[in-house]
Amino acid sequence: MACKQQKNKKYNVEVDGQGCKDCGYCIEVCPQGVFTQADYFNDKGYRPVQVKSSEACIGCRRCYFACPDFAITINEKPAKEDCREKNI
Ligand code: SF4
Ligand code: SF4
Repeated sequence: MACKQQKNKKYNVEVDGQGCKDCGYCIEVCPQGVFTQADYFNDKGYRPVQVKSSEACIGCRRCYFACPDFAITINEKPAKEDCREKNI
């Protein structure tokens, strides 16, 4: 029997607000609407993108490959202890 946690993987999405140049590519390519524009300006004068709903991320990494400034990090959240211990 497959572990429910493995079937429904969760991801943590982070944007480096100081590295973002507000090109909007990530907003365009994300099928889950994870990103939105921030309500502040960064040190370079750009209004960066911020994460609106990390829990909606499906881990496709389209945003990661679309970002010309390497400002996005996608990390898979670790499976729950009990799934790993039982190896199911
Ligand atoms: S990995 Fe895919 S679903 Fe997740 S934030 Fe990036 S584009 Fe959206
Ligand atoms: S693709 Fe990268 S630089 Fe462009 S808006 Fe998104 S996070 Fe910012």
